[in-house]
Amino acid sequence: MRNNLRRFIIALLAMLAISLCCLPTEGLGQTPTKTLKVMIDPGHGGEDPGSEGSQGVTEKDITLALANRLAQVMEATEIISPELVRTGDYSMSLDQRAGLANHNHGDLLISLHLGTTFTAAPRGFSIYYWSPTAASPAATSPSSTVRPWDQQQEPYWEKSRMLASLMQEELLWSIPWASGGVLAADIYLLARVRMPAVMLELGSLNHPEEAAQLQKPEFQEAVAKAIIQAIIKYRSLDEKGLLLPPTKSQ
Ligand SMILES: [Zn+2]
Repeated sequence: MRNNLRRFIIALLAMLAISLCCLPTEGLGQTPTKTLKVMIDPGHGGEDPGSEGSQGVTEKDITLALANRLAQVMEATEIISPELVRTGDYSMSLDQRAGLANHNHGDLLISLHLGTTFTAAPRGFSIYYWSPTAASPAATSPSSTVRPWDQQQEPYWEKSRMLASLMQEELLWSIPWASGGVLAADIYLLARVRMPAVMLELGSLNHPEEAAQLQKPEFQEAVAKAIIQAIIKYRSLDEKGLLLPPTKSQ
């Protein structure tokens, strides 16, 4: 009788252990959050150095360093999953970049660039988004049922504008030079991506002060944190339905 009881208790404990092992991890107090996939596009690369500063520093190298730093800080948030459009020093066309971002189903795209200044005064940083009014008249027939390749951004442009404004608000705190503003422009890459997208022109390599800052890891990290802060705010507004829904036309 005692043996039977012991066997029964052992069996019970074994069953309990098995059921605990096999419990699904969800529902144990962890609220599953959908990670946001952010495509980071480091401008230029390979034979195309972009703008150049003194001592051989090039835009393609700084944008890649910034992209790597941004990806690193994003990964640490565990709610943003970064993916680099260009991962090394090689050439890539704008169509290839847009194609990759669309194919990999990014939720957002951030293209990193630096500007050029021709005066001693810093030109500041600017944030660009695509808009139908800034775009040149469509070359493709509007009667087509398939959205033309150069108008992929159209359903997302208002979200892109919101993202650009949030980026400006956050970057003002981490970039010591003035803001050149949030600007609508017919940017080739942005027009072709199927997700909210912005292009950041963070500073100028031929301006000595800006060039020096842009190469500093602390500066790159501050910029990365500001970008992430803007993305987190964007996501929170989007989840609350406070961003405009994608539109079919302007
Ligand atoms: Zn550039």
